[in-house]
Amino acid sequence: MKDRKLLMIPGPIEFTPEVLQAMGMPTTSHVAPDFIEAFGRALERLRQVFLCPHGQPFVVAGSGTLAMDIAAANLVEAGEKALVVNSGYFSDRMGDILERYGATVTHVRAPAVGDVPPLEEVESVLKEGGYKVMTLTHVDTSTAVVVDAQALAALGRQYGALVVLDGVCSVAGEEMRQEEWNIDLAFTASQKAIGVPPGLALVLAGPRAMDAFDERRAPVGNYYADWANWLPIMEAYEARRPSYFGTPAVNLIRALNVSLGQILEEGMEARFVRHWRMSEAFKAAITALGLGQVPVSTDLAATTLTAPYYPDGVDATLLKHIKEAGVVVAGGLHPEIRDKYFRVGHMGAVSESDIVVSVGAIESGLAKVGYKFQIGTGLAAAQEILTP
Ligand code: PMP
Repeated sequence: MKDRKLLMIPGPIEFTPEVLQAMGMPTTSHVAPDFIEAFGRALERLRQVFLCPHGQPFVVAGSGTLAMDIAAANLVEAGEKALVVNSGYFSDRMGDILERYGATVTHVRAPAVGDVPPLEEVESVLKEGGYKVMTLTHVDTSTAVVVDAQALAALGRQYGALVVLDGVCSVAGEEMRQEEWNIDLAFTASQKAIGVPPGLALVLAGPRAMDAFDERRAPVGNYYADWANWLPIMEAYEARRPSYFGTPAVNLIRALNVSLGQILEEGMEARFVRHWRMSEAFKAAITALGLGQVPVSTDLAATTLTAPYYPDGVDATLLKHIKEAGVVVAGGLHPEIRDKYFRVGHMGAVSESDIVVSVGAIESGLAKVGYKFQIGTGLAAAQEILTP
């Protein structure tokens, strides 16, 4: 019997065989002509996936937190004001990083876990003036809450702040149109909807972000993150010229190029719709099974993951039983509700059968912990949406 588990956590996700094959190829020199070609193509493709035709991509070895660090280190200087639109755990982290670079940080927080910071409150803080940057966590992975990035970015632009979007749990899954939505810098990491094993920080800086970088008074206070080091490298690879600053993650970048090719072959519009459909089916199953969700309303629920509450009398032992039924899901992360809910990622190459299998495993787990429900209720609700 196969003992491989289906990985349905909100990153790392399941990767396609072609991506994993690229990871396993013999590693070449970072200046081998075919690697230069793969890196150059990946940079071009990132603009298309972020929907940011005039942006400057940066691909640097590190996790999503490095991408956060790159954004903060290059865009803010000591004493400048930053506004964090705070929708959870990863917004707190962004605030900490901004403070590390000397920014004076104001948080506008959601009124409750599972809610979003009100637009009016964000606007009244921006009205005070003088904010250099405003950061948003597009999808907060701790709550499965999605913010209205388009409306928030419009406000940021109106009041002259550079808009920075943490798209680690959104880019290439949740609808995100960087240039059209006036987002000055967006970033993600390889292991989520981009579909590549962990290890790459991916940043797309729009023209206003690059201008702000050019106008800095002080050097960037982080050597590895400094665009002054990385910009010539990105430009060289895109011009198909050899170049070196820090050794690139050769196999990860080859895998990135493969995955971006697959994403663009599907097409961004089709990809947004597929993520929405998978999410609708999964969420319908969770509701049919009688479980609530962390986002306080359906329009605040992300399409890349779902955060169901445990039903009364059920705790995290449920996750062990779901795993025994073949599916790995994640526990809670938000400190205020950590033991009350779990998280299921459904992004990237996720298929209809992954959704059905996951719902089946959750039903099996719920039955094992003694929860009373009609077996098959969740599956029927998911199939209702998945079967045309
Ligand atoms: N931001 C968000 C929204 C995330 O979900 C994560 C990771 N789950 C991060 C930032 C940090 O990324 P990493 O764990 O790759 O450092």
